Amino acid sequence: MSQNTDLLLLTPGPTPIQPDALQALLIPMVGHMDPAVFALNARIQANLKVLYGAAADAFTALVAGTGSLGMETGFANLIEPGDTVVVATNGSFGDRMVEMCERYGAKVIVVRAPIGEAVRLEDVEKALKEHQPKMVSVVHGETSTGVLNPAPEIARMAQDMGILVTVDAVTTAGMMPYEMEKWGIDYAYTGSQKCLSAPPGVAPVAVSARAMEVVRNRKTPVTLWYSDFLGLQAYWDHRDYHHTIPVQLHYSLDAALSAALNEGLDVRARHAAELSVAVARTLETIGFSHFVKNPRERLPSVLSLRLPEGMNDLQVRTALREKGISITGGLDATRGLIWRLGLMGEAARTEHYMRFMRTLDEILGHRHLESTLEQNLTAVHA
Ligand SMILES: *Cc1c(COP(=O)(O)O)cnc(C)c1O
Repeated sequence: MSQNTDLLLLTPGPTPIQPDALQALLIPMVGHMDPAVFALNARIQANLKVLYGAAADAFTALVAGTGSLGMETGFANLIEPGDTVVVATNGSFGDRMVEMCERYGAKVIVVRAPIGEAVRLEDVEKALKEHQPKMVSVVHGETSTGVLNPAPEIARMAQDMGILVTVDAVTTAGMMPYEMEKWGIDYAYTGSQKCLSAPPGVAPVAVSARAMEVVRNRKTPVTLWYSDFLGLQAYWDHRDYHHTIPVQLHYSLDAALSAALNEGLDVRARHAAELSVAVARTLETIGFSHFVKNPRERLPSVLSLRLPEGMNDLQVRTALREKGISITGGLDATRGLIWRLGLMGEAARTEHYMRFMRTLDEILGHRHLESTLEQNLTAVHA
């Protein structure tokens, strides 16, 4: 059986499945209460603490759904009707946070930054001082625009004020430094199919001891029964039945996570940062330009580039798709205007971007993109 289909995914999620993770899907069925599965779960919990830089007393687990369920699980557990929540947003996923918080009955204070710019620390600080919220939430790397938000600075500030902190780690944990304990984050989540390159279907989460205490002291039960932290903890920490877990997805995630940790989180981060710069410089030679103007606000794992004048977005992307490469255009306000190239997990391999450049050379007429990328990579690495 071949590992790669002919389709190469260079999208900002999902990503090509890591080979060990693909193999793990073939493990014969084991029961969710079997000692072998509890041992597997314990290894996943320990490795997730490393992935997130979580404290020893944090609670880690997988919830059975994609990244959006990871997002919703945090709000379902940490919000009670009437609570005030500050959400800093500058794109589709930040806006999704706002919508979810409202559905759980929060009074939501929105701190907004323009599309393509990071949220401003001063604006968040002002909202926190004025509204004294229970929680502040922000997306670390906004996938819809390729903007990196100042999540560590927001978390430190909020923690000092005794405010709970949720930081979406979907495009960052596993490809960039993510230091839950050091920065003061209470809730972190990602999706298996993004930076870890496992199949979609589980969301790795981490909860601080402080946030678990908040859940234990709720006045009202968590309305999302399925991912109540205390129910999850009964299964993961105390080995009581709560619900049947997707066993194969646990094996697969475990394989992908182990591979990422073996490769080294710092090695992956350095490589993704270098490759991202080299790819951008290469495409700049044919007229692409950065959508995110401030270099410090660029997310390495989602490279967001404005198309050259006169290039037909759909036509070129369709030609790429016919030659077996899938990339993503803009969303909403940026539709037809930008390309978003994924450098998460297995997508961030040099050989994939060499093939991408070779294929673009074929489509656009020979522009020496492949050799230019090679030269840029050498230059960036040095
Ligand atoms: C993809 C993504 C999500 C949602 O994950 P799904 O797996 O699509 O449910 C949430 N936040 C960010 C930043 C994402 O990129």
